Amino acid sequence: MSTFLLEIVTPERIVYTQNVRMITVEGVEGQLGILPNHIPFVTPLKIAPASIKLENGKNESVALNGGFMEVRKDKVVILAESAELPSDIDIERAKAAKERAEKRLSGKKDEADFKRAELSLKRALTRIGVHEHR
Ligand code: ATP
Repeated sequence: MSTFLLEIVTPERIVYTQNVRMITVEGVEGQLGILPNHIPFVTPLKIAPASIKLENGKNESVALNGGFMEVRKDKVVILAESAELPSDIDIERAKAAKERAEKRLSGKKDEADFKRAELSLKRALTRIGVHEHR
C-alpha cells in the first residue's frame, strides 16, 4: 500500500510527521481526500477535524485550527494556527471554551465579538469531536 509523508506544523511546534495512506480535510470549498501522488496544489482549511489513515490501516483524527494545506510532489504539509492530536487535548479546557463562546454568542455583542465567539466555538467543538473519536 503506497504512502506519503504528512507533516502538520504550527507556529509553536511540529505536531505530526508520519508516512500515511490518506488524509481527509475540510478545505474552504469542501471536503478533500488526499492520496499518494496527488497533483500539487494549495488550499486554505476550515476549523475542523482532519482524518488520517495510517500505514497500518487504522484512522486517527487531528483538530485543525484553520491554516493551509500544501500538497507537494514528495509530501503534504499542513500549516495550522494550532493543531492537536487526541492525546494533546485537554477536554475540560475545550468544554470550558465552548461554554464561554456560547455565552458570548447569546449575549448582545457587536459583529466582531460575535465572529470571534463563533470561531472560538468552532475550535472548541473540533477539539471535543477529536477527543471523543480517539
Ligand atoms: P482557550 O480559550 O481554551 O485558550 P483557544 O481556542 O482560544 O482556547 P487557541 O488560541 O486556539 O486556544 O490555542 C492556543 C494554544 O493552546 C495552542 O497551542 C493550542 O494547541 C492550545 N490549546 C487550546 N485549547 C486546547 C485544549 N483544549 N487542549 C489542548 N491544547 C489546547
